[in-house]
Amino acid sequence: MTTTSPSPAPVLVLVPGATGAPADGGARFHLADATVPQLSVTDLVATRGDGVFETIGAFDGVPVNVGPHLARLARSAAQVELPEPDLATVAEAVDAAIAAHDPVAELSVRVMYTRGIEGDGVPTCWIHARISDDWTPYRSGMKVAALDRGLSTASAGTSPWLLPGAKTLSYAVNMAAVREAKRRGAVDVLFVASDGYVLEGPTSTLLVRRDGKFLTTPVSAGVLPGTCVKKLFDWLGEHEGAAVSEQLMTVEDVTGSDGAWLLSSTRLAAPITHLDEAALPVDHELTARFQQVLKGQA
Ligand code: PLP
Repeated sequence: MTTTSPSPAPVLVLVPGATGAPADGGARFHLADATVPQLSVTDLVATRGDGVFETIGAFDGVPVNVGPHLARLARSAAQVELPEPDLATVAEAVDAAIAAHDPVAELSVRVMYTRGIEGDGVPTCWIHARISDDWTPYRSGMKVAALDRGLSTASAGTSPWLLPGAKTLSYAVNMAAVREAKRRGAVDVLFVASDGYVLEGPTSTLLVRRDGKFLTTPVSAGVLPGTCVKKLFDWLGEHEGAAVSEQLMTVEDVTGSDGAWLLSSTRLAAPITHLDEAALPVDHELTARFQQVLKGQA
């Protein structure tokens, strides 16, 4: 099995019963043709980016952290005042999507939950499973640009309408930041708050190793609570006896650290080789163990 061979077709599961039994008495979810249009042009996710999502990694057919991902989906939905999703149905639909896909080493499973067709008041939900991008180069190390996010770490408290910590479908700004990083000769971004503290990547959580401790940005600073960092913290504490904590850190704390990674569910642990011009040490052996833990194979 490889992620670089010709891609098996993606799988689409539509979930009309994501908020309970469908009104027409139909099935709670069903497979659909992923190669033909299925989304209404008036779905509010198409016209306003109004919805929330999760991306779950499945390795050798086994999804990782499904419970935490779906719990976060429900939290994000509550933050944007969408009806509570029926998580049992969504979990079954995730399993169905993986089962329907050809067996591959790494699958990216997106769970999308939107405001739905304008005027209907019924969320749209679907699961899309496709072979993951080949993240191998990123997993051996990547250059990262530090970019100002233009918000302070206090904004989570002062401006909740900015939806701090919600995984919304308005990712255009995050993608624009990655393009800016590429113009600067890097491949990813570490967002920095206006008060100087480092936050997270556009699609990832920061992990820093300093003096034998493992640190990440506090969720209260307005970052997404990452499922990967939680899994690694649990493993580092239980199996390695390492101290772990949330802590506000500056760019200098990161560049002067013993190593840093950006963590996410399909790319896994990507070590930072450079933050802007500053080189960081990379522990390839520890990084390889992180990949196993994050794949659920440790
Ligand atoms: N922060 C942001 C903004 C993200 O979009 C993501 C994932 O896509 C993460 C952090 C990492 O979350 P997880 O570890 O659950 O994949």
